[in-house]
Amino acid sequence: MTEALIFELSAPGRKGVSLPEADLPTPMKDPSSFLSANFLRKDAPELPEVSEIDAIRHFTRLSRMNHGVDVGFYPLGSCTMKYNPKVNEEVAVMPGFSAVHPYEPAKLTQGALELMYRLEKSLCEITGMSRFTLQPAAGAHGEYTGLLIIKAYHANRNEAATRRKIVVPDSAHGTNPASAAVCGFDIVKVESNERGGVDVEALRKLMGPDIAGLMLTNPNTLGLFDENIAEIADIIHQAGGLLYYDGANTNAIMGISRPGDMGFDVVHLNLHKTFATPHGGGGPGAGPVGVKEHLVPFLPYPLVGKDAQDNYCFEEPNPLSIGKVKAFYGNFGVLVKAFAYILTQGHELKEVSELAVLNANYVLARLKPYFDLPYDRICMHEFVLSGKRQKKNYGVSTLDMAKRLLDFGYHAPTVYFPLIVDEAMMIEPTETESIETLDEFSEALIRIAKEAETNPEGLHAAPTTTPVSRLDEVGAARNPVLKWTAAK
Ligand SMILES: *Cc1c(COP(=O)(O)O)cnc(C)c1O
Repeated sequence: MTEALIFELSAPGRKGVSLPEADLPTPMKDPSSFLSANFLRKDAPELPEVSEIDAIRHFTRLSRMNHGVDVGFYPLGSCTMKYNPKVNEEVAVMPGFSAVHPYEPAKLTQGALELMYRLEKSLCEITGMSRFTLQPAAGAHGEYTGLLIIKAYHANRNEAATRRKIVVPDSAHGTNPASAAVCGFDIVKVESNERGGVDVEALRKLMGPDIAGLMLTNPNTLGLFDENIAEIADIIHQAGGLLYYDGANTNAIMGISRPGDMGFDVVHLNLHKTFATPHGGGGPGAGPVGVKEHLVPFLPYPLVGKDAQDNYCFEEPNPLSIGKVKAFYGNFGVLVKAFAYILTQGHELKEVSELAVLNANYVLARLKPYFDLPYDRICMHEFVLSGKRQKKNYGVSTLDMAKRLLDFGYHAPTVYFPLIVDEAMMIEPTETESIETLDEFSEALIRIAKEAETNPEGLHAAPTTTPVSRLDEVGAARNPVLKWTAAK
């Protein structure tokens, strides 16, 4: 199956629309009559000229070549690619939500404001924080926002110049050190211990008057809950630092444990992961940031509150606020979907996490005999295997095995992350999969482990049944061709 570029499907003069003749006054039809020559285009842009059916078929064919959670299992670790109930989409496109304008006065938008108000309350309840801003557009943007809040807190105590260091574990997601660097902090790495948690003694040695805070994901990117979290929180707080919680893995703990109770001061959630917005295509997302009481004054504005008449309104900005991090109120459609999701789950939100953890442990138990397992513990909602054995004995890499999974109709797991595991393969089944799917997937991966022994060459060549076979990934990264130019 091959698909031409839409430019290659183009034929001069072919059109997908027919519009009536413009009814503008005659001079307006000729731009040269009112625009100076340097604003006039010499050549028309080279846009594809196709009929409506050409366009529809082209994009529908492309969409069918792609993998999505509505097509098959998507165990991409750290991303929580759960099934996203369609009712959320229906609610988000209701005109009262989708056609509301951000400049409409509060008295005409009470419903939208109530939704934000109640969503904030729900997120506070789920995480144990005092208040949330809904503005950030993604997890990484939430990290940026949270770190600016930490910086503003230290600045308000006249300690910004000394407190320059953010501690980040070696298992962290790459966005953590990147966000800290963007906010002007120095990054200090702390090693993991043999159980996959933070090495507490190593952490203690890093403490000093220059510590601004620690960023931690818990459960972490190994899918392991850090058993020493209370001690870690004490160490950071005693040094005068703050704790930042990367909440990308909240799918494991809803209704069971709360970052606020673990001692975290700042939290971000990835609504597009845990709270069900499709995100395989890269957005839009939402990364609300929650804080404890002592950091509320620093939150971005506006926050939604209630006035003296009990109407929803935007609160006055606090003079200590870090300002806005996004225009208006965030990606409102994603907020609507998250609220719809939380309401449909209700008190069963806890069951979401219980099933996510159960499913991950089930798949782990099935696969454990066939792969190396660097941290052999009960996992949370995901786990990390290593393909070291296959690499060493048969020269088959984790990339080969991940590619081979595509031949069985599955999306590959996350590979080569976290960085502290050799030949890492990070699997997150999520709660929405049935035991049949989990069994079929496990059997496919077990078969691949056996193929590594009997047919390594076959694995190097995989995938062979997909629309596009093995790509030159280095070439694609080093020499990307992003612009189409007509062959002359
Ligand atoms: C996904 C993820 C992030 C970044 O979130 P985005 O919404 O993709 O910006 C940060 N940390 C962890 C652990 C993640 O899984």
